[in-house]
Amino acid sequence: MEEESHLSLLEELIERPSPSGFEQPVQEVVRRECARYADQVTTDVHGNVIAALHPEGRPRLMLTAHCDELGLMVRYIDEQGFLYFAPIGSFDPATLPGERVLLHTASGPVPGVIGVKPIHLQEEEERGKAPALKQLWIDIGASSKKEAEEIAPPGTVATRAARLQPLRGRLVTARGLDDKAGLYAVLETLRQVSAQREQLQTALYVVSAVQEEIGFRGVRTSAYEVQPELAIVVDVMPTADHPQTSRQEIGDVRIGAGPALTIGAHVNPRVYELLVQAAREAGLRYQLDPTPGRTSTDVDLLQVSRSGVATGLVNIPCRYLHTGSEVVSLEDVEATATLLTRFALALNAEVNLIP
Ligand SMILES: [Zn+2]
Repeated sequence: MEEESHLSLLEELIERPSPSGFEQPVQEVVRRECARYADQVTTDVHGNVIAALHPEGRPRLMLTAHCDELGLMVRYIDEQGFLYFAPIGSFDPATLPGERVLLHTASGPVPGVIGVKPIHLQEEEERGKAPALKQLWIDIGASSKKEAEEIAPPGTVATRAARLQPLRGRLVTARGLDDKAGLYAVLETLRQVSAQREQLQTALYVVSAVQEEIGFRGVRTSAYEVQPELAIVVDVMPTADHPQTSRQEIGDVRIGAGPALTIGAHVNPRVYELLVQAAREAGLRYQLDPTPGRTSTDVDLLQVSRSGVATGLVNIPCRYLHTGSEVVSLEDVEATATLLTRFALALNAEVNLIP
């Protein structure tokens, strides 16, 4: 694919806000893309978009990435028109002061900034300490409670405003690359597999899952609809290639060195082997992510849903997770799609998933 079209779909996915529970704007784009390549596209009552290609095939393979991102919800507006918020998902409060945000209101996006007491006014003991979330507010420039309430009443959700920006090489930065980079890779896989569908034996289900950031909720419901025998989750993972990280502690995953394949209890060993085989056959660079227990991704729940699913986890290396400037390499994103395409096309009904 051309650089141009890569950036434009990823850009569009990022532009569309999708804080957990409010994913409808991004799911519209997902549905449009899936409709171009899949045989069926449905949206369930939870908000998951489920696309099926060759649904009569065997085995039933689910490829999933979460479409939700971190956000903020307005809970209270004071007399001066400042908006107090609760986080949607887990924020490091140190990353919020001074951030530009967009409030997603009934009449479109409204810009704001996250206000904080400036250093000039801090007491000795406050200096050098990150403020707590309750010490932050959103300033939209309103001058009264009434004015602010008319624009963004309690219940309004916001996201950081950062859009996609290329860096040097093939790195890009944006908010929400967790997990829109993964979502893009899954949609690109659907496109590539559909172009070679005469080779496809498996039933391929692509799920754009909601509400991962608040407890892996969308995969739980979509697993009942899809009933997969095996499933691959695509998400992002932190890297050990920048200052203040330790390879000794978290392993040696780097940006630009290919997708990282998780090995550990939350992954089916046969699926892991098949992923390694697909990477080797496609001549792709890949990395290892040894994670003995919890992965903190949708895999944790998907593996134990219904009577169990043979799961695999493919991670796109990502710096500065959960900040407004996450960074990934487009090379890793593309390699992820190539790997998953190879994996899906190689599967047939004879696959043995018993460890
Ligand atoms: Zn994620």
